[in-house]
Amino acid sequence: MAEMSLKEVIGQKVAQEILLQASKKNRLANTYLFYGPAGVGKFLVAWRLAQTLLCEKPTENSSACGACPSCLKVAQLCHPDFYLVFPHPSSDKPREVQEHEDHFRQAKMAEPYQLMEYNRPINISVDKIRFLKEQIYRMPFQSEKKVVIIEQAESMRSDSANLLLKIFEEPPADTVLVLTTSQIDRMLPTVVSRSQKIRFAPVTLETIHSELQKRFSLDEEKAGYYASLSEGSLGVALSFASGQWEKTLENSHRLWRAVWSKKTKEIQDLIEIFSLEKDRSQILLLLKIWQYLLRDIFSASVGLGSRHLIFRPLHNQALLPNLNFAPPRIYLAFQIVNQTRLDFYRNLGIKSLLVGLVLSLQSTLLSNTEEN
Ligand SMILES: [Zn+2]
Repeated sequence: MAEMSLKEVIGQKVAQEILLQASKKNRLANTYLFYGPAGVGKFLVAWRLAQTLLCEKPTENSSACGACPSCLKVAQLCHPDFYLVFPHPSSDKPREVQEHEDHFRQAKMAEPYQLMEYNRPINISVDKIRFLKEQIYRMPFQSEKKVVIIEQAESMRSDSANLLLKIFEEPPADTVLVLTTSQIDRMLPTVVSRSQKIRFAPVTLETIHSELQKRFSLDEEKAGYYASLSEGSLGVALSFASGQWEKTLENSHRLWRAVWSKKTKEIQDLIEIFSLEKDRSQILLLLKIWQYLLRDIFSASVGLGSRHLIFRPLHNQALLPNLNFAPPRIYLAFQIVNQTRLDFYRNLGIKSLLVGLVLSLQSTLLSNTEEN
């Protein structure tokens, strides 16, 4: 196996350098908080850091050798001094919990940038943190150090977070804890203030573009389109490019066109399809795509050239209605989609949510457009 280095992580130079320097000088903090958008490499950096710290024969430039027994075990996410804690839907059935555990490990080993999607609420149970607390105050089994990664740490409920704070009060000297989060504002402030924070920036669209072309046989335009939709998250871009969200993408476009051409039957059918969708996050994807479309309409209305459009490759599919909207109306439409997103979190029924959205958009943008 090849050397495992922090440097192989795509586009996170600042984070890599901070950790590399600290680790070379033996000055790592006890607790790190990696924060930044989902799918930008926080897990991969934490994983590589664990490998570096647990390696039995690290190289001169503080990389893991990739070949010693410790390296091989961390690569399989099953080293006895390495603890990986992550959220999943709660369950009383041990078998179901085990399935979630296995699924997460396999998915992350296959693709560390992969976003984990669940159609039920997820959390990190207090049992897991209790178990962790019991484990980390003993001597390491195999290495000189212990490493803990707590993924999506914002999904700890307050009982779990409070227990974690107990660990923060008396951190074991030989243990490095890495917490990752894409929603730092949802975390307990005391947890945030007691960690050394490292910010992970969105990956540049150029990097995502070339990564997509490297991994998938995508044409230039499609790669550019997915890169734009990703907002700098390689994980999001990979989900698009792997075809996982293709059906939602297509139905979002179809519903969009039906709204402008006022095809009532088609609107009803598509809303029906969305309301039956088991994965509720697909509704958020629809709303996001529509916001991008409105952004493009706005760009066009203020005379920005087509190279500023996200949906350039789909321009020909008549996604942008051939109407002149006044910018204030477009802004209003954007707000309507935003409000729908907030309503979504209030757990309103999908069908009434989408019917309301379609009607509001039509009345905002399609009534009396000639007045503008
Ligand atoms: Zn090694």
